[in-house]
Amino acid sequence: MSREGAVILVAGSPDNYPLEYYDRGSGTYQGVVPRLLSRFAEETGYDIQYYSPGEEDQRAHLARNRQVDLISACSEDERFLHTQGEPIEILTVERGGETVTYQLWLTQAAPSALRQELSDFMAGVGQQQTAGLLVDAAAGRAPVPRWQESLTAGLGIAAALLAVIAVLLARACLRQRRRGKKDRETDPLTGLGNERFLRSRYLSVISEESRVLYTAVYFYADAEQLEKVRGPQDKEEMLRRTAAVLRRYAGEHDVLARVADAGFLLLRRTAGGEELRQWLSMAQASLDEVCRELRMCRVTAGLYALRERDWELDDVLARSGQAAAQAAREGKPYLEYTDAMHSRVQEEKRFCAELPRALERGEFLLYIQFYVDAGSLAVAGGEALARWQHPEKGFLTPWRFIPVFERADLIDRLDFYMLERCADFLDRLHGHVQTGFFLSCNLSRKTFAAEDFPDRCRRLLEGRRFARDLLVLELTGGADADGDRIRRNARQMQDMGLRVLLDDFGKDLTSFAELAGFPADGVKLNRGLVAGAETPRGKALLDSIIRIGHDLDLAVLADGVENRAQSDILRRLCCDAMQGYAFFRPLPEWEARRQLLEAGERNER
Ligand code: C2E
Ligand code: CA
Repeated sequence: MSREGAVILVAGSPDNYPLEYYDRGSGTYQGVVPRLLSRFAEETGYDIQYYSPGEEDQRAHLARNRQVDLISACSEDERFLHTQGEPIEILTVERGGETVTYQLWLTQAAPSALRQELSDFMAGVGQQQTAGLLVDAAAGRAPVPRWQESLTAGLGIAAALLAVIAVLLARACLRQRRRGKKDRETDPLTGLGNERFLRSRYLSVISEESRVLYTAVYFYADAEQLEKVRGPQDKEEMLRRTAAVLRRYAGEHDVLARVADAGFLLLRRTAGGEELRQWLSMAQASLDEVCRELRMCRVTAGLYALRERDWELDDVLARSGQAAAQAAREGKPYLEYTDAMHSRVQEEKRFCAELPRALERGEFLLYIQFYVDAGSLAVAGGEALARWQHPEKGFLTPWRFIPVFERADLIDRLDFYMLERCADFLDRLHGHVQTGFFLSCNLSRKTFAAEDFPDRCRRLLEGRRFARDLLVLELTGGADADGDRIRRNARQMQDMGLRVLLDDFGKDLTSFAELAGFPADGVKLNRGLVAGAETPRGKALLDSIIRIGHDLDLAVLADGVENRAQSDILRRLCCDAMQGYAFFRPLPEWEARRQLLEAGERNER
């Protein structure tokens, strides 16, 4: 297509003989690049002009002020603000033993069709033509160096010929190098760019001023369950297909990369608002289709609109990633990063930093909520629940800090602290009343799955007086962990005489699958099941689950029993023990001990 008359202004490199240089004699730019550009002008009809000829390198200044469309003859390590997209390669030479590629950058002022036209043109320029141009350029007037007026044209020709040879030699080497670079910047599984690729593009493609036009969209592809049930190849399939969908939805000015095992970042050039929401909902509809087909996986997104001062890619990744993870936790398709999220992240970091001090100073308190025997309704045991008496934030319940420590892989520190407190509690009761009183301690799956878990427990129990079967380990339903190791460790715990209870039982289907080969002594019904006890279907479900438990020789405990009706139904269905506000609220350990001792004395009388 002819661009007759459209002026393209070029910022040239004044001192890059024989590629591009300012010839003071003629007051023009000379060399290979101007020649190539003039051929390009002949083919397309553009009017290519070099900007205000001069000896100073003004390229950065001209780019910043958007006074030119093209910045010319840049080596790979030169970067300019206010450019757009990828640079276009012109040619490659060897200099000082290094292979250097020269490129053209388009500024934000360049007409939109120029990129394609220039790329097509450069791709069509063969190696011999380039070499010929180099000879021509050198055979013409060599520049007069500022430091030595007497350089001969002969020297110029010799330099050019050397450069020609170098070009020919360098081509093969460059191809190899470029392949290496591409490999280093490519994610082998999905074929998308990787984090390294993203980093190089973040600096070059997104300028300080254009940054506000971008929104970082982090896609969190959660295939953990899929991998657990159907294996790693299904997870990989899911990631490949997610990448393919995202590639389809990435626009010309966007940057897309796989930045984590389950994370993709798409830097989206967008007007924001409704336009972004519509684009995202279409992209998510396509992703949902993939997830529906593969099942047991989903993709959530986190949005973070870039601000002018967001230089640090790490912050952009953290914020958008945080929003995507939060969306996954809340079961929402996407969430925008907010300042509240920022405060939460700060709080999480703070909690993690404070944990060692809090343990040392005994800020974590042991609370105990009693279980009652379903037959006699007498206290049968208790569950240990952590509370944090935080010096500034006050009295905190576990929902506020347990998930934080689980995410940060610090939960074992608190779990072992609580386990020790439980052992102390049982030891102090030993020899007094209530011989059958058991205490269950919540342990995260991550704690339970650790290789040294049995040894740590063994050490903790050394010299303890209480009967081992009074200490019950409640395996909580939270964080995911290695199932095989949990089973092995559970068996070792039983060998040591402790009992193992599966908490939150019946919350999802995997707990049933787990039950088949799990060395447990009992299950604790999920609170949701108990809440549904008064409906016919809920009751039928409870009935079946309690039967399954008993058929497998497991004790069945119920959690969250809030009223008499629920308690009556559970008793009729032969549940073994119950816990809930209908009977007792969690009590501080001293109060729990006092009540136990008092009840013991009453029984003795
Ligand atoms: P969980 O194991 O399901 O513990 C029962 C939670 O339900 C407790 O909340 C308890 O206060 C509450 N609850 C008891 N009866 C009722 C009732 O009738 N109705 C309702 N709506 N709630 C009732 P809490 O103490 O806030 O504990 C929350 C969770 O934190 C626990 O859930 C447990 O999974 C976890 N947790 C507590 N302490 C620890 C610990 O030391 N380590 C670990 N890993 N997790 C802990
Ligand atoms: Ca529990």
